[in-house]
Amino acid sequence: MKYIFVTGGVVSSLGKGLTAAALGTLLESRGLKVAIQKFDPYLNVDPGTMSPYQHGEVYVLDDGAETDLDLGHYERFTNTKLTRFNNLTSGQVYKTVLDKERRGEYLGKTVQVIPHVTDEIQKRIYEVAQQSKADVVITEIGGTTGDIEGLPFLEAIREFALDAGYNNTLFLHVTYVPFIKAAGELKTKPTQQSVAKLREIGIVPHILVCRCERSLTEELRKKISLFCNVPYEAVIEEKDVDHSIYEVPLMLQRERMDDLVCRLLHLETRPAQMAPWQEIIRKLIAPQHRVRIAVVGKYIELHDAYKSVYEAIIHGGIANDCGVQIEKVEAEQIEKEDALKLLSGIGGILVPGGFGERGTEGKILAAQYAREKKIPYLGLCLGMQIATIEFARNVLGLKGAHSAEFDPATPHPVIALMDEQKNVTTMGGTMRLGAQGCHLTPGTKAEALYGTSVVSERHRHRYEFNSAYRAQFEQAGFIFSGNTTDGKLAELIELRDHPFFLACQFHPEFQSKPNTPHPLFQGFIAASYKHSHQKAI
Ligand code: GLN
Repeated sequence: MKYIFVTGGVVSSLGKGLTAAALGTLLESRGLKVAIQKFDPYLNVDPGTMSPYQHGEVYVLDDGAETDLDLGHYERFTNTKLTRFNNLTSGQVYKTVLDKERRGEYLGKTVQVIPHVTDEIQKRIYEVAQQSKADVVITEIGGTTGDIEGLPFLEAIREFALDAGYNNTLFLHVTYVPFIKAAGELKTKPTQQSVAKLREIGIVPHILVCRCERSLTEELRKKISLFCNVPYEAVIEEKDVDHSIYEVPLMLQRERMDDLVCRLLHLETRPAQMAPWQEIIRKLIAPQHRVRIAVVGKYIELHDAYKSVYEAIIHGGIANDCGVQIEKVEAEQIEKEDALKLLSGIGGILVPGGFGERGTEGKILAAQYAREKKIPYLGLCLGMQIATIEFARNVLGLKGAHSAEFDPATPHPVIALMDEQKNVTTMGGTMRLGAQGCHLTPGTKAEALYGTSVVSERHRHRYEFNSAYRAQFEQAGFIFSGNTTDGKLAELIELRDHPFFLACQFHPEFQSKPNTPHPLFQGFIAASYKHSHQKAI
């Protein structure tokens, strides 16, 4: 078993997760079985209780784990199956240690960061290794070297290398080489200092992945090699991508990083076979068609808040050889100006998931606009609830219809709290979470898109369609095209008299990959392209 640890230096947001995922792609395409996990040094047990402003999107796994968005990259870039074991936070580590202490499992010892916290961290690496039976386990350490919070994790991986053997362990450090405009050059000092910080702890990186806006010159590579004590060939350039994050694996392959990793870890494999990825990139760089999609949301200014949604839209584009221009529309703006102004000329409208009332009226206006003007609409989770409220108010004439989440006193709670949620008092990990079966109604658009009758999709919500209103909705052309396998909860809806108006209570975006785009996104982009094309004629 081989272990790769990915750390980050200088600044956050360097794309460590992307680098780890892209390395996973390359190793898999060499025929290796890869497992990937993320360690997060914050004290939350999971990011489920954090605002998207703090943390970006919460990525949900099949088993219902609410995890860091980097796990989304791992699933999109590799074939690894992730579970709650693949995301460990300091909060989880300390909780385990403190629970053990209360049970008396430390037999009277003083409980300390070293060795008790660090042991717990190492145990997780071995657990993931054993469960996955992978050839290589990639572990990304969140945060930046020099952070106080990250120290126990760094200490743990230093000790781990001693235990697992130096031939089996590789430290890869992602760093930043800034371009200083006034001086007109790239600077290596921050990289030198972050490597020095790692060496202080006892970790000597084998490979430096240098994030930069401009290409590293040979001279600069030599300098980094000399000052940071890594061989010349281990200075890897990772320049900002021109078109798409899916270029990163190809970029790292050009830098021969996968060759080097395999050599250092004594892994004999075939060369990476990246032809399918090259075809994906071709479609992204030079698509046959183009379409504009509006995403109407609440956290619009923060790209990370809807990360998987944006990715899945792009995948839907790949499936249709269609370049997608995503227009990010602030829902509150629609309340102030008018939908017509902000959404005119758009190919399709998507309303993603969300919590809290701010912006809901703007989203409802967007759904109304899509329904009335026959513009393709895709609603995800809250986006389905919004479509339901809009239909209730404007088609069924149910005045004041709302979700009980936003207006507990509404006369028509068309979206209501699920029975199982009524006695829930704590916030963390208590929603309806994870993969559940959905039965598709024969003869619907949804069934045609999926091409099957039962699907499994991931959830993260507390509220649901209130079935007391079901018959009334159905009579007016609101079709329930997917239900839970027990038939109790509405999972997917579509409108009868509309070219493409589809919304789901689950989150299809979490299961879309560039090489296997999700059918709902595929259908949505196809319909949106058709809509804008028809208009153009
Ligand atoms: N706030 C809604 C609920 O809890 C929708 C959740 C979501 O969009 N993920 O049901």
